[in-house]
Amino acid sequence: MKILFRLLLCSLMVLGAGCATQQPTAAPSAPTVATAKPAAAPLLLISIDGYRANYIERGLSPTLASLAKQGVQAIGMQPSFPSLTFPNHYTIVTGLRPDHHGIVNNTMSDPELGKFSLSDRNAVGNGRWWEEGTPLWETAGNHGMKSGTMFWPGSEADIHGKHPDYWRSFDGNVPPTQRVDQVLAWLDLPAGQRPGFLTLYFDEVDHAGHTYGPDTPQVDQALRDTDAALAHLVQGLQQRGLLDRINLIVVADHGMAPVPANQTVLLDKLIPLRRVDVVSLGVLAGLNPLPGQDFAKIEAQLEKPQKHMTCWDKSRVPARLAYGSNPRVPQLLCLADVGWRISTSDFVSKRKGKLSLGEHGYDNQAPEMQALFVAHGPAFRQGITVPSFSNVDVYPLMAHLLDLPPAANDGDYQQVKDMLKPEAR
Ligand SMILES: [Zn+2]
Repeated sequence: MKILFRLLLCSLMVLGAGCATQQPTAAPSAPTVATAKPAAAPLLLISIDGYRANYIERGLSPTLASLAKQGVQAIGMQPSFPSLTFPNHYTIVTGLRPDHHGIVNNTMSDPELGKFSLSDRNAVGNGRWWEEGTPLWETAGNHGMKSGTMFWPGSEADIHGKHPDYWRSFDGNVPPTQRVDQVLAWLDLPAGQRPGFLTLYFDEVDHAGHTYGPDTPQVDQALRDTDAALAHLVQGLQQRGLLDRINLIVVADHGMAPVPANQTVLLDKLIPLRRVDVVSLGVLAGLNPLPGQDFAKIEAQLEKPQKHMTCWDKSRVPARLAYGSNPRVPQLLCLADVGWRISTSDFVSKRKGKLSLGEHGYDNQAPEMQALFVAHGPAFRQGITVPSFSNVDVYPLMAHLLDLPPAANDGDYQQVKDMLKPEAR
């Protein structure tokens, strides 16, 4: 979750032809309950926001490392583009690329709905922003399974008229151990009320990464603090005899790259900003036309090779980024090179040089953007490391674990099934 000043995109309804993205396909139906697999195990999906894949090598996450050692660890998990918080959290619970689920940025606009930003509680809680996707908790509810979300982007909204059965409005001041206690309390509910699908969310690692940069003592401390909360969770599960009877999936939404204070592309030095609608700045800048202005000229200017960033009309975004077909994506996108930010002289002077020193949102293939994936529990093999995979594949994996029929999605269960015990596949 992020701070206002970072930020970015969004847009107006231009039904562009869009880039060549694959349409979501219906995944094969999950096996029926009759198959012999531990379908009764609850599933707890945990996000450690901004936990870069290789942070685990710092030796500051002993609980996480222990879960990985007794379970499954991926070399990395590739976020979807753009590698931002809201788009990727919603991808994880829908299996859809941001272009397909409609949360195309942390900051966006829609001709009917207006503007969306993380700090706008009305927008965040408005289900219409989210309804291009069907989150897993909704499918669970449709099949008689309760769900409980201890924070997750989208969980505060009434999507298709439904919330998770148990959910909390986001409050960054709730300490990590209290978040854990809430999840444990839900697991203590009587059978008929107990959630089968739960989420838990930690944001301290992301905050420290933005403020100080990823390679700092402050991030190290955040890693320790978050691991302490995980240790509290593991202890609570052990006390309940649940540790080996619950499937845990621990993920991050994206990684983090250091961005030196002086590595800023100033947009106003390249184009007359008053002639465009600047939807977003940051790692991924988004611009829309203003009436009466020659936007083609602006586009031609910015689409020429630029130092430290690349700009495309939304119809010309490289296909591998799977981005640009959604009407909420702005007409012109400028993506900073890793280690750079896009801003304006005005903004930089207002911040008096206090810019965030860590960023994400970059090309989702960048090594710095790769995210954590660890899984543990009765369905998972023990002590294995699997190759990197795309975060759209987490959704079909979770649907399979819960014996729920997946909604149409961009993921592929075949990519992740080998991490399961043969009897759980
Ligand atoms: Zn994030």
